[in-house]
Amino acid sequence: MYSAKFQCINEECRESYPLDKIIYQCERCGSLLEVVHDLKPLSHRSAAAWIKLFDERYKTNQWPYGSGVWGKKEWVLPNIDDRNIVSLYEGGTNLFWAERLGKMLGIEDLWIKMCGNTHSGSFKDLGMTVLVSQVKNMISNGAPIKAVACASTGDTSAALAVYCAAAGIQAIVLLPKGKISTAQLIQPICSGALVLSLDTDFDGCMRVVQEITKDEGIYLANSMNSLRIEGQKTVGIEIVQQFEWEVPDVIIIPGGNLGNVSALGNGFLMMKNLGLISKFPRIVVAQAQKANPLYLSYLQNFEEFKPVKAEKTLASAIQIGNPVSVQKAIRTLKTFNGIVEQASEEELADAAALGDKTGMFNCPHTGVALAVLIKLLKQGKIDKSERVVVISTAHGLKFTEFKVQYHEKKLGFACRFANRPVESPPTVEAVKDALEQALKQKDSQSPGLI
Ligand SMILES: *Cc1c(COP(=O)(O)O)cnc(C)c1O
Ligand SMILES: [Zn+2]
Repeated sequence: MYSAKFQCINEECRESYPLDKIIYQCERCGSLLEVVHDLKPLSHRSAAAWIKLFDERYKTNQWPYGSGVWGKKEWVLPNIDDRNIVSLYEGGTNLFWAERLGKMLGIEDLWIKMCGNTHSGSFKDLGMTVLVSQVKNMISNGAPIKAVACASTGDTSAALAVYCAAAGIQAIVLLPKGKISTAQLIQPICSGALVLSLDTDFDGCMRVVQEITKDEGIYLANSMNSLRIEGQKTVGIEIVQQFEWEVPDVIIIPGGNLGNVSALGNGFLMMKNLGLISKFPRIVVAQAQKANPLYLSYLQNFEEFKPVKAEKTLASAIQIGNPVSVQKAIRTLKTFNGIVEQASEEELADAAALGDKTGMFNCPHTGVALAVLIKLLKQGKIDKSERVVVISTAHGLKFTEFKVQYHEKKLGFACRFANRPVESPPTVEAVKDALEQALKQKDSQSPGLI
């Protein structure tokens, strides 16, 4: 019989709690919790049999197992009643071979995992399906939960709101006023969430939500709730699955609150423990220079960690100075021979634009990861022969304001890949002239983009 429980991450404590208990931090020592699975019953099925099972389910219409998350149900939330699963067919996103961008950077085997091509447009769906399903399960077992709440930099709230809408559960979202995109603001509004716009930053919203969720009737949906990590950990498993169960050499992931990097690591640990893989990738966390507490700690070999005041960054979803999951992230980076690197505003914006120009349509956080890739290739820390996967965290359509400003060159730096529309009178002659001009210019432009 498969089983999983919450366990304190503090090695000296290790207190455990059932998954249907309303709890986010250890009652004994205050540390974060994580979901741990009893590996013994899971290991009764061979690695080959797991692979066969996962492949049989992958992207089929066999509800809910066609979902990228629930196709791995036994590894995620084994005992939930299928009738309580709230799935919007999340995961199963394409793994894009960035052939043209790779060529420009001198690397052949570059792949982008397009996690934003999912129901609410970001990887947050992967975790939210698990959390909201567990809430629905608890409510159906009589738990007194009236609503689910989160603080958000935009994507968590969009995902929470839409899963709650599908389940018929009230969502409450706390957003930092003026610090998220219009698309991200309208998403929870459309889904019927109670939207609170607070005149503070994400860290300020996080402090408030932790207080209001002390009331047992309001369940906390931030990633300090480790149920989300269980869903998000499927991203690493899915990447390996998409490579026919081969492990890439390097994975680059943008990091803010740092739940996702620990989730990524957990997926690999589980595959290794159950014999599906025999090696690990190297994991790189990419941070915006304006919100870089993990990078600063990395420079000191993680000997200490100091929160920072996050400054305004175009990569708004990772504008976080006091990441909740920092201890988990450091543990992951130590296990996965990790690197942390940062990107400036100009570097992230140019990298995002270059990604777009070569066939993506990505978000500024993906831009941070691409900029870090470029830096690490230059520094020789990633070898050009390696297979590299960049995790693209959200859909570019959520960030059109950023893209408009870039292409209008309104960001206060050169915006060297800006592409301006050509204005022309509506006559064939004028359009022909304009085309001739524009195509001539293109010919004379050097292809050396980097
Ligand atoms: C949430 C988010 C991140 C950061 O993930 P963490 O788990 O907070 O580190 C990165 N990019 C996007 C688009 C996000 O929504
Ligand atoms: Zn504890």
